[in-house]
Amino acid sequence: MFNNNYISNLLNLKDPNINFTEIKEENRKGIGTKVITGILVNKPDICPHCGGVHINIHGYKMTRIKLPKVSEYNAILDLKKQRYKCMGCGKTFTAKTSIVEENCCISNNTKHAAIIHATEKISEKDIAKRLNISHNTVNRIINSHNISYHVNFNYLPKALCFDEFKSTKDADGAMSFIYCDAVTHNIIDIIENRQLGFLKQYFYRFSLKVRKNVKYIVMDMYSPYISLVKECFPKAKIIMDKFHVINNFARALNKTRIRLMNSNKKLYNKLKNYYKLLLKDRRKVDSMHYAKRKCFNKWMSLRDIVDYLLAQDEELKNTYELYQSLLFAIKTKNEDLLNNILMSEHKNVSDYMKTAIRTAEKYSEYIINMVKYSYNNGVIEGINNKIKVIKRIAFGYRSFYHFRNRILIMFNLIHIEKVA
Ligand SMILES: [Zn+2]
Repeated sequence: MFNNNYISNLLNLKDPNINFTEIKEENRKGIGTKVITGILVNKPDICPHCGGVHINIHGYKMTRIKLPKVSEYNAILDLKKQRYKCMGCGKTFTAKTSIVEENCCISNNTKHAAIIHATEKISEKDIAKRLNISHNTVNRIINSHNISYHVNFNYLPKALCFDEFKSTKDADGAMSFIYCDAVTHNIIDIIENRQLGFLKQYFYRFSLKVRKNVKYIVMDMYSPYISLVKECFPKAKIIMDKFHVINNFARALNKTRIRLMNSNKKLYNKLKNYYKLLLKDRRKVDSMHYAKRKCFNKWMSLRDIVDYLLAQDEELKNTYELYQSLLFAIKTKNEDLLNNILMSEHKNVSDYMKTAIRTAEKYSEYIINMVKYSYNNGVIEGINNKIKVIKRIAFGYRSFYHFRNRILIMFNLIHIEKVA
């Protein structure tokens, strides 16, 4: 009636030395709990202490091991471990099993389950709840020696993406560095500190030959990264990230709008309500559908609204038009137009836009590369968003080491040693 194989299979506790004897249902602290009992008998051929062969049985040691939940019941294994005594040296020892580490009361498959849960967007606290273990235990599992990630310092791909993300307080400047393969989109490593000295030291661990293999690096306008590439990656072309570049111009246009908005009470509501329309690619602003619009109280298309707003202020109009030309040049990969805009003087636009253009001009070579080559940091933005989510649901992380491990687990980069 009590089939040992079924039980071990169902619980995924595949140690042939365990004999299951009973399954009871108990109510512990109001939670239904399956209590499974078993006996572990595993007599070694020789004494682990002296190598002697005369070994007698010597009572039992009772252990209580936490298992992953079974059909939403908490599960516990009460395991009676056989003890042995060596007649040669007189020392005693306990039968060994692959389902749990020595002196540990959490089964290996519980640990494995914790790592699998950690690949999802849930907090360590919720993982703990799901597995009926403590929050601390989950943290310990994530930081344990059973999981490891090794960067291959003998290889770098042809194209890299550089970026940073808001990290833990113990990371210097609270910003950490992340880089990935621009083609396969795999994260290569996460580095605590994004400061130049730190990164140089890190990348010098790759030989010059390996670093010369890198031909393209995508990044945002952050001058230490440029110095880094010039020193460490002699063959790499710098490519500015499209998202960041467009964002800089959009911010300049937006500031222009806000200044006008705050100085003109009559236009305040209109400029406030329709700010997104100004930032949008003009070709995508609808001119076909008419509706009664908020703040206008008459039938208009969205394009009409944009045109109305622009007609109110010359500077806003010029700034907007320059912004749209930039968008157009970038999106249509028009190298000449982009170069032309960056190199000419723009007298009629707002100071904000002038500053943005001046900054872009400084990096124009790399911005032109952006339309020349098709690499961008879009992937890393996605990765960073996932990192943000995990940080938020965990209410922040205190230790960078732990945070890094969790990220590496989330992106399936951790090698998990096989458990029974
Ligand atoms: Zn012995």
